[in-house]
Amino acid sequence: MALPLRDRISIVKGDITGMQVDAIVNAANTTLLGGGGVDGAIHRAAGPGLLEECRGLGGCPTGEARITKGYNLPAKYVIHTVGPVYRGRPRDAAALRSCYRHSLELAARHGVESIAFPAISCGVYGYPVEEACRIAIDTCLDFLKQDEGISKIFFVLFGDRELEAYQACWKDVAARI
Ligand code: ADP
Repeated sequence: MALPLRDRISIVKGDITGMQVDAIVNAANTTLLGGGGVDGAIHRAAGPGLLEECRGLGGCPTGEARITKGYNLPAKYVIHTVGPVYRGRPRDAAALRSCYRHSLELAARHGVESIAFPAISCGVYGYPVEEACRIAIDTCLDFLKQDEGISKIFFVLFGDRELEAYQACWKDVAARI
C-alpha cells in the first residue's frame, strides 16, 4: 500500500549528485550539452558517458524533459528538463509547471519509484524561489495524488535560503492535506 501523501514528499539539504534514488532531475539548458550550476555538478559526477548520450538527444525545448542513464551516479537515471529563464510572465509559471509534470511522467514510464528534484530555474535562470517552490510542490503533489507508481519525491536544496523557502511552503501545504 502507498505511503500517506504527506510522507511521499521530503525536503532535504545537500548535493543532488549523491542522492540514492532511482532518478535525479537535472536543471539543464536547451542544448543538453552541460553548463554550470547543478548541470555541471551532475555531468562531473556522472562522467563522460552522460555527455555522450546527451549529444545523441538533439536538445530539449523549455518545459520538456529527456531521460538518460545515470552512469557513475548512484541514481539509475538522469531526467534532464529545461526550466524557463524568469521574466515574470505567466508563461514562465506554465513552463516551470510543465518541467515538473513532464519529468514525473517520464519517470513513471520508466518505472521510477524515487526521484529527486533540484530547485529548477532558481539559480542562473533567476526564478524567485518563494514562487518556484510553490509551483514545484503543488505540481508534484497533484501528480502523486493520481499516480501510485512514484512513491517518493525529494526536493534537494543546495542553499539555506532555498531550503527555508521550501520548508515554509511545504509546512503550509502539508497542513491542508
Ligand atoms: P537554472 O539554470 O535552472 O537556474 P542552476 O543550476 O543555476 O539552474 O540552479 C538551480 C538550483 O540548483 C539553484 O538553487 C542552485 O543553488 C542549485 N544547485 C547547484 N548545484 C547543486 C547541486 N549539486 N545539488 C543540488 N542543487 C544544486
